[in-house]
Amino acid sequence: MSSPTTSSSSADPETRTTVPPPEVGADKPAEEADAAASAKRWISMKKTSRTYHSSRYIRYKTCKWCGLTKELSEFYDGRWGKKCKVCVRARAQKYRREHLEQYAQYAKARANLPHRIEARRKYQEEHKQEISEYKRRWAAENGEKVAASKLAYYEREREEVIARSKNWAECNPEKVRSAKANNHRKRRAARLASRGNFTVAEFKELCESYGNKCLACGDTEGVLEADHVVPLTKGGSDSISNIQPLCGSCNRKKFVHIIDYRSSTDVLSESY
Ligand SMILES: [Zn+2]
Ligand SMILES: [Zn+2]
Repeated sequence: MSSPTTSSSSADPETRTTVPPPEVGADKPAEEADAAASAKRWISMKKTSRTYHSSRYIRYKTCKWCGLTKELSEFYDGRWGKKCKVCVRARAQKYRREHLEQYAQYAKARANLPHRIEARRKYQEEHKQEISEYKRRWAAENGEKVAASKLAYYEREREEVIARSKNWAECNPEKVRSAKANNHRKRRAARLASRGNFTVAEFKELCESYGNKCLACGDTEGVLEADHVVPLTKGGSDSISNIQPLCGSCNRKKFVHIIDYRSSTDVLSESY
């Protein structure tokens, strides 16, 4: 009842002395209020006082979460923190585990920032050699992973892959032809259980060593075919040592005869 007046009257002593009878017992409550206020002030001072809270007085604290009493250094925010480092870290890890997709999204968004794209491009340009070497090594060690990813890519982009390879085949007819011929030869050699084998590159090298011409007629215009000196059907091997480059018509003419054109020095004079 008298409390509303207490604060103002204590602030101004003159008003207190001149107030009329309703405040007969004004003196006593005012004193009490003063004491309460000063106590409050003292408490609040105690709370914020540097001395009281200095680590000279507080060495150990009890964690609010795990309930363990630990040294101040075990709390991230020194004497103010209520949770120990272990608890804070555990909570952060738990949160991260529960929001994996969200963090992945953050990472993606960060990676697509313009300056990061630029930095990545620069790094890739400066470390081209290393990167390609690393990729090759990795692919050699992870064959089945590469195959799986290639298959997945094909299934995902089927139409585009087909269109692209069609386009490539149209642009590189001679490569397609030689690859087809090579596959055909390999299948035939396998069927006849022939020994040895050779690659398209090896055959190309052989042709170049003979000046890219047919060893029988000396033709340089036509497409050269890999002829088996000793035919596969007669037990010839499918290795490069049994191969001579011939044009299509000479190859057909030779058929299954055993004619070695490679030893002749002047292929043009040779005829049969
Ligand atoms: Zn804790
Ligand atoms: Zn020829």
